[in-house]
Amino acid sequence: MGISCIYKYNPSFGESNENKKSKSEKMNEPSEEKSLNFIESMIEEDIRNKKNKGEVYTRFPPEPNGYLHIGHAKSICLNFGLAQRYKGKCNLRFDDTNPEKEEKEYVSSILEDVKWLGFKWEGEPKYASDYFDQLYKWAEKLIKKGKAYVDELSADEIASQKGSPTQAGQNSPFRNRSAEENLKLFREMKDGKYKEGEKILRAKIDMSSPNMHMRDPIMYRVLHKSHHRTGGKWCIYPMYDFTHGQSDYIEGITHSICTLEFEVHRPLYDWFLDNLIETDYRPGQTEFARLNMSYTVMSKRKLLELVNEKLVMGWDDPRMPTISGLRRRGYTPESIRNFSDKIGIAKRDNVIDVALLEHSVKEDLNKKAPRVMAVLDPIKVILNNYPEGKTEEIETINNPEDESMGTRIIPFSRELYIERNDFMEDPPNKYFRLAPGREVRLKSAYIIKCEEVIKNEKGEIEELICSYDPETKSGSGSTRKVKGTLHWVSAAHALNAEVRLYDRLFNDEDPGGKKDQDFKEFLNPESLKILTGAKLEPSLKTVNPFENLQFQRLGYFCVDPNSTPEKLVFNRTVPLRDTWGKKNR
Ligand code: ATP
Ligand code: MG
Repeated sequence: MGISCIYKYNPSFGESNENKKSKSEKMNEPSEEKSLNFIESMIEEDIRNKKNKGEVYTRFPPEPNGYLHIGHAKSICLNFGLAQRYKGKCNLRFDDTNPEKEEKEYVSSILEDVKWLGFKWEGEPKYASDYFDQLYKWAEKLIKKGKAYVDELSADEIASQKGSPTQAGQNSPFRNRSAEENLKLFREMKDGKYKEGEKILRAKIDMSSPNMHMRDPIMYRVLHKSHHRTGGKWCIYPMYDFTHGQSDYIEGITHSICTLEFEVHRPLYDWFLDNLIETDYRPGQTEFARLNMSYTVMSKRKLLELVNEKLVMGWDDPRMPTISGLRRRGYTPESIRNFSDKIGIAKRDNVIDVALLEHSVKEDLNKKAPRVMAVLDPIKVILNNYPEGKTEEIETINNPEDESMGTRIIPFSRELYIERNDFMEDPPNKYFRLAPGREVRLKSAYIIKCEEVIKNEKGEIEELICSYDPETKSGSGSTRKVKGTLHWVSAAHALNAEVRLYDRLFNDEDPGGKKDQDFKEFLNPESLKILTGAKLEPSLKTVNPFENLQFQRLGYFCVDPNSTPEKLVFNRTVPLRDTWGKKNR
């Protein structure tokens, strides 16, 4: 398998863009120096006005019907971040009103992801299902007030009577039952007397409202399904819209931050609370634009499709935009938090370039990840003037960006591996890597010269016979300079590894946004390349799962959770240079 397209020669070894102080580092200054976004301005105003006693209480309310993705990470960073900034609190609340799609596996993955991102929720995790009793009482209260009724129309009939935004809907023939009859029927619904779809509870609001959500929305439906927390206790379940605002109310949320699609639900949430609650306190809802990112899909339904159809290895496939996928890919919590901070929040929908996320992890790992030598597609080099059986211990620095990371010893010997595409038999003029008769420096070691190319009977290059100049050892004061520096590994000491190179999962900027084409048509067939013959320096014997490393000149890599000392597996987080742009332009 050729890997020449994966990384490009970088003549200034160790001087890639990430190693220089970049513009984006300036963007990463403490948030105090940035101007406030519209939510922060609003909160500061509320604090000044002592609204809700000047308290800030937010929440992150996922539905446990899938793994969290980078869009959720944005919402997590926003909600928990605001609580941190204003010394408030933030709840983690599972909006688990739909027993059909919710699973415990999703709950535990969400708990893990929020913790991994570095946030701490207030008290125990909360569940909307904890409020089922209260919600039920509130439903009865609305019935008694003549503000809710049991309907017997089918789902299709309800849909056909709903009207359109420009045309009023029709009242259901069951709309004017007495409160007593509604109460009796609703209790019978709760007691399991009816089949699914036979009866539902609707709010009695206004079938001619210009806001479709106000046209007698459904509050409760019959579902003979067991719930992940309440088990078989209920066979009626509240709708999300009848749950969400009241859950915020019960928890004392002061700032209920939602994505834009909930703006049109806001009058309904207010209507429920206004009809149920006598006190003045209300959770104030504010909407922001959800994060959309190029070259990926973010709907949980689509991500689930990829998992179910085995188009990826699972929810944590390193190509997935899920938090668990990003973690396995080698993203750090800091890189995701910084990304979220940098993109800010908007009131209008927009699309963020995935390159920004990739940049953010490079920026973080540049300072943190030790730099090691790994040869992904090896070719053997034999130094004909180096003594057989001799091994030299070479000291090399772990990260020039941070000297406190110290140094380590790597072995040097007569037989080495270098990268196959660091050699060319017939190179162009400006090629500074190895070629017949040319010299390069081996990083932290010696200058070598290619003397002879050994080929097999098929004409393929098998080995390079080189000589080394013993006077040129790095750090020995030698002043002889050559233009190219290569990474290398001592053959006798090398560890074998599998290295997985990932590219974008889709080869279209907006795979989910096409009218007549399924998003899966845009899957990038080259999104995963598995290299099984990589050679690594021996210090990598003892790496731990998720450890981040820079493979010199190649990119950032991370130890796969399934890697073992017997079978090392690495995932490439990002290449040092963005090869994508070059390939596609
Ligand atoms: P999806 O559309 O991916 O299925 P969802 O909105 O149904 O997501 P929830 O579990 O309901 O997923 O989301 C939990 C919280 O995360 C909500 O407050 C939601 O507004 C927010 N959220 C979801 N997707 C994004 C996104 N792309 N950007 C920002 N916030 C998001
Ligand atoms: Mg949702």
